[in-house]
Amino acid sequence: MDQVTRRTQVLRNHLLCRTTPDPSLGPFAPNHCLNYSPPDLVEPSSFNPTDMRLLLDGHNVADRDWLFGLMTQSRLFNPQQRGAKVFVSPDYNQSMEQQREATMKRVFYLLEKGVYQGWLTETGPEAQFRRFALNEVIGIYDHSLAIKLGVHFFLCLIEFDFGRFKRVGTEYSFLFLPLHLLVAENRGGAIQFFGTKSHHEKWLRDTENYEVKGCFAMTELGHGSNVRGIETVTTYDSNTGEFIINTPCESAQKYWIGGAAKHATHTIVFSQLSINGKNQGVHAFITQIRDADGNVCPNIRIADCGHKIGLNGVDNGRIWFNNVRVPRENLLNSVADVSQDGQYLSAIEDPVQRFAAFLAPLTVGRVNIAVAAIYSSKTSLAIAIRYSLTRRAFSVTPNGPEVLLLDYPSHQRRLLPLLAKTYAMSFAGNDLKKIYVKRTPESNKMIHVFSSAFKATFTWHNMRTLQECREACGGQGLKTENRVGHLKGEYDVQSTFEGDNNILMQQVSKALHGEYIAAKKRSRPFKGLGLEHMNSPCPIIPSQLTSSDLRSSQFQTDAFCLRERDLLNRFATEVLKHQAQGQSKEHAFNLSYELAEDLGRAFSQRTILQMFIEAEATVPSGSLKDILSLLRSMYALIFFEEDAAFLRYGYLSTDNADAVRKEVTKLCSELRPHALALVNSFGIPDSFLGPIAFNWIDANAWSSVQQ
Ligand SMILES: Cc1cc2nc3c(=O)[nH]c(=O)nc-3n(C[C@H](O)[C@H](O)[C@H](O)COP(=O)(O)OP(=O)(O)OC[C@H]3O[C@@H](n4cnc5c(N)ncnc54)[C@H](O)[C@@H]3O)c2cc1C
Repeated sequence: MDQVTRRTQVLRNHLLCRTTPDPSLGPFAPNHCLNYSPPDLVEPSSFNPTDMRLLLDGHNVADRDWLFGLMTQSRLFNPQQRGAKVFVSPDYNQSMEQQREATMKRVFYLLEKGVYQGWLTETGPEAQFRRFALNEVIGIYDHSLAIKLGVHFFLCLIEFDFGRFKRVGTEYSFLFLPLHLLVAENRGGAIQFFGTKSHHEKWLRDTENYEVKGCFAMTELGHGSNVRGIETVTTYDSNTGEFIINTPCESAQKYWIGGAAKHATHTIVFSQLSINGKNQGVHAFITQIRDADGNVCPNIRIADCGHKIGLNGVDNGRIWFNNVRVPRENLLNSVADVSQDGQYLSAIEDPVQRFAAFLAPLTVGRVNIAVAAIYSSKTSLAIAIRYSLTRRAFSVTPNGPEVLLLDYPSHQRRLLPLLAKTYAMSFAGNDLKKIYVKRTPESNKMIHVFSSAFKATFTWHNMRTLQECREACGGQGLKTENRVGHLKGEYDVQSTFEGDNNILMQQVSKALHGEYIAAKKRSRPFKGLGLEHMNSPCPIIPSQLTSSDLRSSQFQTDAFCLRERDLLNRFATEVLKHQAQGQSKEHAFNLSYELAEDLGRAFSQRTILQMFIEAEATVPSGSLKDILSLLRSMYALIFFEEDAAFLRYGYLSTDNADAVRKEVTKLCSELRPHALALVNSFGIPDSFLGPIAFNWIDANAWSSVQQ
């Protein structure tokens, strides 16, 4: 048969969907074509993925499954048939306007189904864990939907937390503070101002029911990370008992405000408060920006931020205020208040500490973002690893079968360390939530430092994971329906909002520096932030590490602690050196940025490792524990490879670095047989993954096109 006839036959068979082999076709007969073979049939699981999922999700598994079910049942979630499977995902091909409206319809559908019940009106740990869990599931479906809810509920969570802080008093000595304040302890007693209970109840109820649609207006065109520099100005009119909010210049316009462009009726606006000509610093006010019919209120102008590289289901907007009057009660007054006759009242004298107190309740946003990043990594790894267990490329022997992607050692090396990190961060994320839910005034500093470190670390990890997964899926990674590529645009913003990652990591290293100075100056042991290891003798790393050394949690902890201790010493010394040369503390920090960054990462990685070890310790001996031990070793060893500090400062000899590399390769091959079970343990339903995670031949067959 000549070439042309054979091609014609093949095409004819494709078009007719012929499945019976035609012997005359020789090697082009369908039984010589690629077949999809479900990896689930051939990849055994040595442990129970359901048990692993319980450990990973940590809480509210039934609630999560309930919500997955709600979303798959509704056409609003855009179910699409691909081959024999149905996938749910927003239609990102819609216009920005359509995406926003679709997001809003989903918000109301979930409201109707009772998803947000108790998100604001119930406050115990159970309610908070439920809210975290449901938020995580929503983020797996669509980041825009999660953020749209986040900016709305934030309005009241912050309102609530301001009230809460007011009632209990707190330690405000940690946020965005210069050095001397980082080491200071300010235990304000119960701060007594105006009663706000009825005020809280009104906002909480109306927001939970979506009668009030909230947004959060902090950032301005001219100031983002530097919140203290914002230029919106509020004054007080004692004749009417009202505050008057103004946007004095173009750079003071509120910018990026999620929900403001279309839907929000109310905002928390952050503004400088000027009382009797004296600037009292940044304060927050609840302000109505639209009426119930969606008309923009008088003296307010709103414009759209326009199309973005992702997150187009969220209507980010810009706001200008022109003599906008709000009642005196609309000042969030937990930290400071203004009396009817216009006197400024605050129990916190220092404006810098007062500012820190205002920002203290914002940690909830960072906790949410950190854990959401990990669920995005899980989604992309589940897709890329499932694909790599069905996709073949090249043979290693003449006429031999093509090799599965995940059987290439290089492919294992690309994906499996990211999988191990995702597991580690999952456990650390659970701990962060626990610490947050049980927060007390005493734990505020720890929450601030952990949430900053984890938010930056997890979201950076997520972006790296998404890129690697995208590439690991080849061209298929670029198809929106396969999710991994598209998620990059959707999640990129995580490294910028709720605190730019670089700025957050600066905060972390400054906080560690503060602990260091306090311990040295007062000759007292380190206590808190996991720095107690600094009180013990310096760990010694053997010059010739064996495989069992490298896999021991004690050695891994020692090596991570050694690095953190040394970097903290070096950082403190360098800051001191710059100060001795006449630099201000702030500038000394800036000049020491390399060590600050190394230290921030070292702290974060050590904390995550310890949380992983604690999670592992809760599991009885057996296959689950064994696999966790492999993952933990991979998590630790990969940083010996990636962080140049281990060699630069000699924590590892070059021989040991060589041993690490070999061990990572061994760990890859040991983890390879468990890869499918490890991603199945994420508990993400098939319909929330993409077609390439399953029978991608079927999903792309001509018959599918006709569907
Ligand atoms: C999609 C989206 C949604 C958002 N939603 C909201 C919202 O609902 N409400 C709201 O109030 N805000 C929102 N924001 C704003 C967001 O919080 C800010 O973008 C963020 O705080 C960063 O501020 P910026 O963009 O002005 O960047 P800048 O502060 O100008 O930072 C730019 C760069 O400079 C670096 N940099 C800044 N200062 C330093 C320093 N001291 N040392 C070293 N490097 C530095 C940063 O690391 C960063 O890389 C949103 C933003 C986006 C993109």
